[in-house]
Amino acid sequence: MNFEWGPEHEAFRKEFRAWLAANLAPELCLDDPADDRVASDRETFERRRAWQKQMHAAGWVGIAWPAEYGGRGAGLIERIIWDEEYAAARAPVLPGNMGLNLIGPTIIQWGTDAQKSRYLPPILSGDEVWAQGFSEPGAGSDLAGLQTRAVEQGDQFLLNGQKVWTSGAHFAHWIIVLARTNPDAPKHQGISCFLVPMDSPGITVRPLVLLTGHRHFNEVFFSDVAVPRANLLGPLNQGWKVSTTTLMHERHSSGARNPLGQVARLVALARSVPHDGGTAWENPVIRQRLAQLVIDCEALKYTRFRNLTRMIRGEPPGPEGSILKLSGSELGVRVSDAAGELLGMHALVNAPTEFVPDAPRWFNRLLAARQYTISAGTSEIQRNIIGERVLGLPKG
Ligand SMILES: Cc1cc2nc3c(=O)[nH]c(=O)nc-3n(C[C@H](O)[C@H](O)[C@H](O)COP(=O)(O)OP(=O)(O)OC[C@H]3O[C@@H](n4cnc5c(N)ncnc54)[C@H](O)[C@@H]3O)c2cc1C
Repeated sequence: MNFEWGPEHEAFRKEFRAWLAANLAPELCLDDPADDRVASDRETFERRRAWQKQMHAAGWVGIAWPAEYGGRGAGLIERIIWDEEYAAARAPVLPGNMGLNLIGPTIIQWGTDAQKSRYLPPILSGDEVWAQGFSEPGAGSDLAGLQTRAVEQGDQFLLNGQKVWTSGAHFAHWIIVLARTNPDAPKHQGISCFLVPMDSPGITVRPLVLLTGHRHFNEVFFSDVAVPRANLLGPLNQGWKVSTTTLMHERHSSGARNPLGQVARLVALARSVPHDGGTAWENPVIRQRLAQLVIDCEALKYTRFRNLTRMIRGEPPGPEGSILKLSGSELGVRVSDAAGELLGMHALVNAPTEFVPDAPRWFNRLLAARQYTISAGTSEIQRNIIGERVLGLPKG
């Protein structure tokens, strides 16, 4: 196995790195102490949207998307290099990430030509931002238990029900919704998938606030929302298959978030945080702990490469994506636990201090890290998938 990139890939890396160095304003990297993939307020959201537009105009959004829909048409290796350089530059998550990573790829796989032409270009340009309306109060891990109903009425469907934990719905222009279209069919077979404008009459969005105080997600209520038949994605009553595509991409992209950048920040912190009359970095036990985190990040990188090999062969992301998701989110928790131990009482302060100028980042990270072991499917569910579908163990 050769882990070296080819000269054309290194040229791509150099070009993107240079473009970021010339165009990414440093204030954009530091503008949000919540350090979350959903912006903390509208102003930040719009600033990031303008950034996405700038990147898109320069051809740096949708690296591996087909050129006919406005993507760069490059390969998955370029996509990985893009991720590495983007994270190294500490650039903010693009506000259109949900469309770019989950919903766009689902439309590419399941959409009609008309749907692809209509929805994909504005996802790339940042003109239309998407939310994911899958989870409900009684349907999270058991997603197929969802109760939102879509009743056929001539050329449209009437949507009624409630979604919950809907990330970024308060900024979104569109939402992808799973709804039950045949209540008499077995639960996986009576579901359909719809593309719904967020400004449709009958939609109400109510905020849910994270432990950090950050407004990340929402409840979304649908009351007699009329959805044209043209907005059905994939065949009627086959929405479960469509949602599987979205979830596979979601697991793959959330597992791909490598916390190596956070570990680098931790190392810098250890060099300055006072400890036993010196700095934390002088303590061999702490150095060992940080070294282990770097090793774990490297292991995660190679787990991602294994997935990549599969995708380069033309296979869709499979249940192996659960290994990446599980190890990525659990590693995120270990990194934030290490930060808590390093910072001690400083970790409880959500304001810059003399010893820890970026204390709000660590405060937020410490409180928020566990969300990633829940979102995109909990760690327990990933273990079930790995056990049953990757290792072939009997169902528990
Ligand atoms: C930060 C964040 C963002 C999110 N964003 C979105 C979004 O944008 N759109 C969206 O649709 N959803 C979103 N979600 C919802 C997420 O997908 C669900 O929270 C997740 O699937 C778990 O469902 P639940 O919360 O209903 O928990 P439950 O399914 O009720 O699970 C409760 C506990 O039981 C365990 N459990 C359940 N079933 C099993 C089983 N069979 N075996 C072993 N253990 C089990 C779980 O692991 C968990 O510990 C988000 C969640 C978070 C935390």
